[in-house]
Amino acid sequence: MRSVLHNDVQYVKGVGPRRATLFGRLDVRTVEDLLYYFPRDYQDRRHFTPIAALEEGEFAVIKGEVLATGLSKTKKGKKVFRLIVDDGSGRLPCLWFNQAYLDNVIKQGEEYVFTGKVQRYQTLQMANPEFERLKEGGEELSQAGRIVPLYPLTEGLNQKALRTIIKQALDQYLPSVPELLPDDLRARWQVIPLDEAIRTIHYPADREALKAARKRLILDEFFILQLALGLKRERRASQAESLPHSPVTPLRDRYIAELPFNLTGAQRRVIREIKEDMTTARAMNRLLQGDVGSGKTVVAVCALLTTVDNGYQGAIMAPTEILAAQHYENIQRELAPLGLKTVLLTGGVKGAERKRILREIEEGTIQIVAGTHALIQKKVAFKQLGMIVIDEQHKFGVRQRSELRKKGFQPHVLVMTATPIPRTLTLTVYGDLDVSILDEMPPGREKVKTYWIGPERLNRAYAFIREQAAQGGQAFIIYPLVEESEVLEVKAATEMFEHLKRRIFPGLSLGLVHGRMTAGEKQRAMDDFRRKKTMILVSTVVVEIGIDMPDATVMLIENAERFGLAQLHQLRGRVGRSRRQAYCILQGNPRTEDARRRLQVIKSIDDGFLIAREDLEIRGPGEFFGTQQTGLPELRMGNIIADIRLMEFARRQAFKLLERDPALKDPELSTIRRRLMERYGDRFELGDVG
Ligand code: ADP
Ligand code: MG
Repeated sequence: MRSVLHNDVQYVKGVGPRRATLFGRLDVRTVEDLLYYFPRDYQDRRHFTPIAALEEGEFAVIKGEVLATGLSKTKKGKKVFRLIVDDGSGRLPCLWFNQAYLDNVIKQGEEYVFTGKVQRYQTLQMANPEFERLKEGGEELSQAGRIVPLYPLTEGLNQKALRTIIKQALDQYLPSVPELLPDDLRARWQVIPLDEAIRTIHYPADREALKAARKRLILDEFFILQLALGLKRERRASQAESLPHSPVTPLRDRYIAELPFNLTGAQRRVIREIKEDMTTARAMNRLLQGDVGSGKTVVAVCALLTTVDNGYQGAIMAPTEILAAQHYENIQRELAPLGLKTVLLTGGVKGAERKRILREIEEGTIQIVAGTHALIQKKVAFKQLGMIVIDEQHKFGVRQRSELRKKGFQPHVLVMTATPIPRTLTLTVYGDLDVSILDEMPPGREKVKTYWIGPERLNRAYAFIREQAAQGGQAFIIYPLVEESEVLEVKAATEMFEHLKRRIFPGLSLGLVHGRMTAGEKQRAMDDFRRKKTMILVSTVVVEIGIDMPDATVMLIENAERFGLAQLHQLRGRVGRSRRQAYCILQGNPRTEDARRRLQVIKSIDDGFLIAREDLEIRGPGEFFGTQQTGLPELRMGNIIADIRLMEFARRQAFKLLERDPALKDPELSTIRRRLMERYGDRFELGDVG
């Protein structure tokens, strides 16, 4: 049944085609959108001031009868419309410049409310005040005499127009707004009815009422989101008849037995969780969070080997060529002795070599493929892909993740990230995933000592690097970050490299790596560094994530103020990956408060979770996650940080309801189901649910 709420906004009184276009810019297309176009703030205009009591400079609301009106001109020829208003206590002149049409709008003898600043110009007066005519029968005002909304504007739509139109829409359409929540839920949650909440959010009687309205609307929004996440998860579970995996895993067991170290307790726990997932009938869909250096790769390899043990193929996708190559080399080195065939597939692999690799992947003679997003290209077809690992998944888009999944028949999926976010936020952003956490570092790791220096102390930092090198410690020098221009960035790094080589470290061997090199060149630079043919690696941010060089002890970041918190934490994570004491030196001269705060945070905090929380605070959730990247839902009312308690509550309630009614079949839930499908149906690929 089509509701009037779906009518085009242009048919709302006072809108019309021209304004409908303007509303389009605000994403308001239907009557319902208009009702849900919430104020950004409010102004208290409840009290009328008697004209006799007005004071110069105050912002006031007055109510009175218009005694006389008239048009005149200033000396410079501007048209001025003037009037005198009388409220019984006194009289006040009001005037408007360049709005001669008001002569036909404001009527002598009628009562009006005027809102504006009181100025003195010979006498007290108001220039360009907002006005609204008092309607017959004491009908409610929209512009004054109450707490009034302040809406986000767009050019061509001012506050007065928005208030008038929305007030009109509220009066006309609010009775058609169906209550979303079944009575029992509403009673249990102790929230006000939806229509009342919508009216109140636009025109609250007082702060208390506003709070109640906000709570109701936030809960609706969160509840629907969590129901959608729950449905997505249910769907995947029920349809994902995965490839059956046996718990007998000889290769995996041998790999673990031959590791040169003991697994940490956390690694063992997570490996077990993954194995349990893989041996059930439904496809695993798990997020692994662990701070930089916590040892996620070993866990990933175990997952890949489990699928190989069962006769299927595994793939691991990384966001950069360098990292993909590193994974490939590790896997190759560790697994070739077990008789496994692995390959590296990146954009850099071309021609006959590429053809051969693609053929072997398709024939199934290759068991494990490491690669970049080159893995998700159309031409890549697997014989039977059983396990997918996505490393540093926050660097990929949602779409890329699901593309890879489509390469297999319900493969198991493990996504890994070192950008830890608070648990409850995980539940929002990755609400359909199961979560494992590596909350324990391999033993013997020392905290990376972090210093923040100005440019004048660079020479001391260089001297320190020389000392470290003399003891076998390698150094990264990250330089610099030139925003928006990889060409400039490469130029700067290259020049710096030459300078350092000639003038600063003449006795040491230096390497250079940057994004403009070919895959082979990058590879060589990384290999030389790994084999300690070079002791210092000058680099752009291409080494930001994942790179593992156990003998590196110094990370020197020049112009550190130009990096974001997550980047700095990742870069620092490139060192301190063995028992050697490691150092991170931030050379920076911050000019903004935010940049200063970032360096302070990195200097004083080493826990990735805490840093992420700070980051979230400095940047806000939108920028932190990148809405596009992670599929973070855009929320109109609620704030996933400030309103986190309500989010947790909504999640519990949603999951409880889904347990009782997994497909939301209850007719009392039909409105919720419709809203949910409208908002999240496509985004979560909910198909024909409902
Ligand atoms: P990340 O979680 O950042 O991806 P890695 O998987 O690259 O971390 O591991 C970091 C380093 O720690 C690697 O050199 C790896 O070999 C080593 N490592 C992993 N697990 C352990 C462990 N249990 N004991 C000692 N070293 C470990
Ligand atoms: Mg890693």
